[in-house]
Amino acid sequence: MTLIICVLALMAAVITALVLYQSYKQIERSSINHALNVARIAQRSISRNMELLSLALDSLAWRYRHTRLHSMPAQQQLEFLLGEKVEASYIAAQGIVNAEGELVVGSPVLGEIMPGLFSGRDFFDVPRNDAGATLYVSPPLSVRIERRVHVIVLSKRLVEVDGSFAGIAFMVLYLDYFRQLFEGLSLDKHAVISLYSMNGVAYMRQPYDEAFIGSQAGHLPHLHTMLSPDSPAEGSYFARSPQDEVQRLYAYVRIPQNRWVVFIGWAKRELFGEWTRMLYAVVFLMAAFSIAGIYLISRLRDEFFRRSKLDQQLEEQARTDKLTGLLNRRALDESLQGAWHKAQRNEMARFAVLFADVDFFKLYNDTYGHKAGDYALVAVARCIRGAVARHCDRSGRYGGEEFVALLDEADAEGALHVAKQILAALQAQKIPHERSPFGRLTISIGIACLDRSVHRSVEEVVKAADQALYQAKREGRNRARLFQAPAEMAPAGWQFSSANS
Ligand code: GH3
Ligand code: MG
Ligand code: MG
Repeated sequence: MTLIICVLALMAAVITALVLYQSYKQIERSSINHALNVARIAQRSISRNMELLSLALDSLAWRYRHTRLHSMPAQQQLEFLLGEKVEASYIAAQGIVNAEGELVVGSPVLGEIMPGLFSGRDFFDVPRNDAGATLYVSPPLSVRIERRVHVIVLSKRLVEVDGSFAGIAFMVLYLDYFRQLFEGLSLDKHAVISLYSMNGVAYMRQPYDEAFIGSQAGHLPHLHTMLSPDSPAEGSYFARSPQDEVQRLYAYVRIPQNRWVVFIGWAKRELFGEWTRMLYAVVFLMAAFSIAGIYLISRLRDEFFRRSKLDQQLEEQARTDKLTGLLNRRALDESLQGAWHKAQRNEMARFAVLFADVDFFKLYNDTYGHKAGDYALVAVARCIRGAVARHCDRSGRYGGEEFVALLDEADAEGALHVAKQILAALQAQKIPHERSPFGRLTISIGIACLDRSVHRSVEEVVKAADQALYQAKREGRNRARLFQAPAEMAPAGWQFSSANS
């Protein structure tokens, strides 16, 4: 039963572990999908807005060419060039720089934030040196416009009719543009969403951290995969951030036009928070059930052993003679039948029966009282039990002051030896019996061995032993007598020497 319960408990544990594993995998899959979708939305939004800003720069360049064809007053030129703004609230300034790096026309604030020549600045040099360059986006810059802010500069190459470099059209964009975009996405407590250039420069991070903008983070191990040129254009993986030591799921999507990567990082413990609570609950419940189960099993087992011990005791009591502790008549009959059946099955099997009867016991009772008679019977039983000591032998109270011993695999010689031992043991007890000619309590024993040619049942063997006992009584008592078939001449027997008494 314990084994069955253990197997059932093991099966339950395996099934629970499988279900938990499946639900873990399910949460992982849906989290990756969700994170990738959020990253894709952010990526598309940034791409579209950059396209719009690129168009705005094209429009600026077109208007600049237009002013060169039609002469206008300076103020009108300025209004015509800079009047239109895309996402105006995020554009700090815009302007046109000629091929020599001089500002031709631009927002008034440019004189403050970017004084002097533009040649030597990356957003001028890159479009100048690369005829094929499209939209150039500078790394984040820190400038003072009323207060210190982070900006990026978007620039486009202008060309003469012959294709030579004519300068740049550019605009200065507040980085808050991306901050607003990211703040629109609702994130968990330990989640991050960030925008990096592919060479590891940080453009924006939500939760916002001023010190983070413009920093070089390409060396950080958890960003390595998404910034590696060998990695696919989008993907996801789990990694621990060395900055805050939080294990996160990172899902990234690249923006190839701008060589940027946008990624979202979700804290693993928040993604699997519910699952972990469920795991603890399951482990707790299983431990509680196991302890309860073990307790119940041990109680059941104790009860089972107690009952079987009780049954055994009852069974033993039902087979035991109360006074002497030997087998009772019923158990004795069963043993005799058992020996008989064994002898029927096995030709070589044999047994002997000893029939003992206390001599002059009526007189003993009359002299010493019934209670003393009982004690005397207990003493006789003790002598019989001491002599009939082999595991396969049985001894019992046949009734009144008569006892029977069943000696398995015993021949006449062996049986006589056991009888002698019983008589000797009783002699050693020296139980006085003043009305017996022996002066002490004695018994007579009749012995019969199984004879297949004569005996037809075990009762006949017992009867033969009884006859031998009768013979012993007749010959004077206090002796053992072996049953002999009447035809035989010299009956074998053994009398206890009175000299020894
Ligand atoms: P013999 O030597 O011929 O066997 O003489 P005996 O007196 O022993 O034979 P008898 O059969 O006449 O007497 C048996 C006596 O055993 C009678 C009875 O009172 C006594 N007896 C039988 N069972 C018990 C018992 O359980 N306790 C006691 N104290 N006496 C018992
Ligand atoms: Mg008798
Ligand atoms: Mg008797």
